[in-house]
Amino acid sequence: MTSTLIHNIGELVTNDPERPGLLGIVEDAALVIEGGTVAWVGPAADAPTADEAYDAGGRAVLPGFVDSHSHLVFAGDRAAEFAARMAGESYAAGGIRTTVAATREATDEQLTSHVARLVQEMTRQGTTTVEIKSGYGLTTKDEARSLAIARQFTDETTFLGAHVVPDGTDPAAYVELVTGAMLEAARPHAKWIDVFCERGAFDVEHARAVLVAGRAVGLEGRLHANQLGPGPGVRLAAELGLRAVDHCTYLDDVDVDDLRDSGTIATLLPGVEFSTRQPYPDARRLLDAGVRVALASDCNPGSCFTSSIPLCIALAVREMGMTPAEAVHAVTRRGADALGRDDIGALVPGGRADLVMLDAPTHVHLAYRPGVPLVTGVWRAGRPT
Ligand SMILES: [Zn+2]
Repeated sequence: MTSTLIHNIGELVTNDPERPGLLGIVEDAALVIEGGTVAWVGPAADAPTADEAYDAGGRAVLPGFVDSHSHLVFAGDRAAEFAARMAGESYAAGGIRTTVAATREATDEQLTSHVARLVQEMTRQGTTTVEIKSGYGLTTKDEARSLAIARQFTDETTFLGAHVVPDGTDPAAYVELVTGAMLEAARPHAKWIDVFCERGAFDVEHARAVLVAGRAVGLEGRLHANQLGPGPGVRLAAELGLRAVDHCTYLDDVDVDDLRDSGTIATLLPGVEFSTRQPYPDARRLLDAGVRVALASDCNPGSCFTSSIPLCIALAVREMGMTPAEAVHAVTRRGADALGRDDIGALVPGGRADLVMLDAPTHVHLAYRPGVPLVTGVWRAGRPT
């Protein structure tokens, strides 16, 4: 087994809780990769020898970013809708339907190559693990094929048949389909089940029915909630003990207490607020209350078509009261937590060797130099991408 030593790392973010600070930073560090996993981490002066060596030139190295929320399986383009919104029209959940029509018409090959292009775009920006949802098929056949395509790119696939009620369908009848035949067809290709619990999408009782049905066949629940206004979704997520509830823009004090007490991760998606000119979620309030906070892209063709985790970091720091360290933690360790993964999101011996190298001396530059393509190297499972 070949071993690789990366040395002359100016700042190594480990997220190792046994090291000091939130990020467990080691300065003047080195790291050894062996067989796809991290074999050794520590000060460069103590580094063991290895078969190969790579000089980081004083740059910062971080765990690969974990993007725990994306909607990459789709066809079509909604640039005109974006332009209309920027011209003053308001965003409503129903815009999803235009993507549904385009997605149903696309071939498997078209959908697959589109996902491949977006995943490659994410990788170039430092994302080494991505969660991908279905939700633009909304028929049994189209949801199952969306998930089968997503599965070619990640193990973190999420069945989101309950994204929006298709035109001309009775909501109760659609929920019956989602919890019946559609769930059965989706199950072999999915790890998670998700619902868009929002006015204009699914109410709390329908959301509960979908999550309970998914859990009964072995899928873990997650939820879109409290994005467009206050609502009962976050409370439902806490009550069901879900791993994560995403958006969390409009929260009252009970929501915040419930998140803290349940341990459910609040995944904030600031690219959405940026792209829709909505108020940002208050990350500071959540962190100060002791809630675990993750950040993700929500890359999708409607409300947020960015694949950039560095942009999310910059927005979270500038607009949501997070420190650079908290934002980096939220896209690495907390992103992994939001997917129930302990093999990624940190650089510790035995963990998967997913690394990002920045053309910068510290992680702070991700927020300090917004919009600058700082990612110069990405390794996934020990291999350069
Ligand atoms: Zn989403």
